Amino acid sequence: IVEGTTKVSVPVPPPDATFPPSAAPVFYNPEMELNRDINVAATAVFVERLLSRKELLREEVRYVDAFSASGIRGLRIAGEVGIHATMNDWSPEAFELIKENIKINGLEEQTQVTRKSANVLLHEQKFHIVDIDPFGTPAPFLDAASTSVRGMLSVTATDTAPLCGAHLKAGIRKYAAVPLNTEYHSEMGLRILLGACARELAKHEKGMLPLLSHVTRHYVRTYLEVLPGTKQTDRTLKSIGFSIHCPKCGFRGPVYGLAVHIEKECPVCGAFTQIAGPLWLGPFREQAFCDEVISELEVHPLNTKDKAKKLITLCRDELDIPMFYDQHVICKELGASATGIEILIEALKAQGFEASRTHFSGTSFRTDAPITEIKEIIRAL
Ligand code: SAM
Repeated sequence: IVEGTTKVSVPVPPPDATFPPSAAPVFYNPEMELNRDINVAATAVFVERLLSRKELLREEVRYVDAFSASGIRGLRIAGEVGIHATMNDWSPEAFELIKENIKINGLEEQTQVTRKSANVLLHEQKFHIVDIDPFGTPAPFLDAASTSVRGMLSVTATDTAPLCGAHLKAGIRKYAAVPLNTEYHSEMGLRILLGACARELAKHEKGMLPLLSHVTRHYVRTYLEVLPGTKQTDRTLKSIGFSIHCPKCGFRGPVYGLAVHIEKECPVCGAFTQIAGPLWLGPFREQAFCDEVISELEVHPLNTKDKAKKLITLCRDELDIPMFYDQHVICKELGASATGIEILIEALKAQGFEASRTHFSGTSFRTDAPITEIKEIIRAL
C-alpha cells in the first residue's frame, strides 16, 4: 500500500472477505487515509509552530503513534514530516510488521518500535505529540496520554454511537457525561469527546486549545494544543458546560460552567428541556491553524488532497455557535420544502443574522438567529 510517500506491507484480505479490517491479523483500514493525510499536514504545521519557539531542534521533537498496527501512521510522520516517531503496538504480529515496514522505508534512524500496553508506554515516556488511534473509544487511554503529552494531543474515536447518544449508557460510562441523540448528534459527539479530554488534561494541570477537529461518518478526530499550568487549565475549564435542548420547538442553548443552575423550562415554548453534558462549548478549531493546514496539504502528494481541503475549509468557516440546525428537520416540522442550503444562509444574513454552513453535513447550518426567527425565514422562502 502507498499513502503519501510512504510504502507499507499490510495483510490484504481476499476480495470476498466478510470480516471487518479489525479481524485481520494486523489492522489496516483504507477508509482512514483521509484521517492520516490530514494528520501529516496538521502535525507538520504544529511542528513548525513548536520549532518557531526556538526551544527545540527538529531532531529533538518526539511523536508517538501509541496504537500503531502496521506502523503506517507513525511511518508517515517520520518520512513525510521528518521528525522522530515511536510506533507502539502490543500485538506480536503488529510489532514484527512495523519493523518490516520501517526497513521498507529506510527509516531506521528516526524511529523506535515498542511492544507495550499503550498506557504503560505513555506513563514511562514523555512525547511532544501523542497520537491515540485505538479501536473504538480512546477513554481508557486519555489519562496516560495527558501525563505524557508535552505539545499536541491527537485523538481518534470510532465509538460514535456512545459519543452521540445512540448508546446512552455506554456514553455515560465512557465519558462521564450525558450525550443527547438529536439531529446534531455528530456535533454532540465531538463536544462530549472534547469535554472529556479537557477534564482529563485538567487532572494534570494542563489546559488545551483545539486546533482542528472533524467528524466523518464513522469517527471523530481532534488535534489539541496542550498548554501547561493552572492558569491555562482554569481558562480551559471555562469552556466546559451543558447544552439545553427543547424536543418540542427545537430551541437549543449553551450553559457555561460546571456548577450551574439549569433552567428546566424551554425559554421559547415552556416545554420541559433535556440537558446534555458536561461537554465542550468553546471553538473546536483555530482558524489560523486551519489556514496553515490547507497550505500544507498543497505541498504533499496526497490521494485525498481535494477532499481534505474541502473538509478543513468548511471547518474553518463555521461560526463558533453550538449546536448546528438541520434544515431538513425544520422543514419537515413546518411542512415546507427545503431550498438549497446557501439560499437559506443568505436569507438569514439578509435579516441581519450571522449564518454559516458546517462540515458535519450538507443540510446543516449555524446561526445566531433564535429558533422562532429561523422558522419564520424558512416559511417565507
Ligand atoms: N493507527 C493505526 C492506523 O492508522 O492504521 C490503526 C490502529 S488499530 C485501530 C488499533 C491497534 O491498537 C491494533 O493494532 C491493536 O493491536 C492495538 N492495541 C489495542 N489496544 C492496545 C493497548 N492497550 N496497547 C497497545 N496496543 C493496543
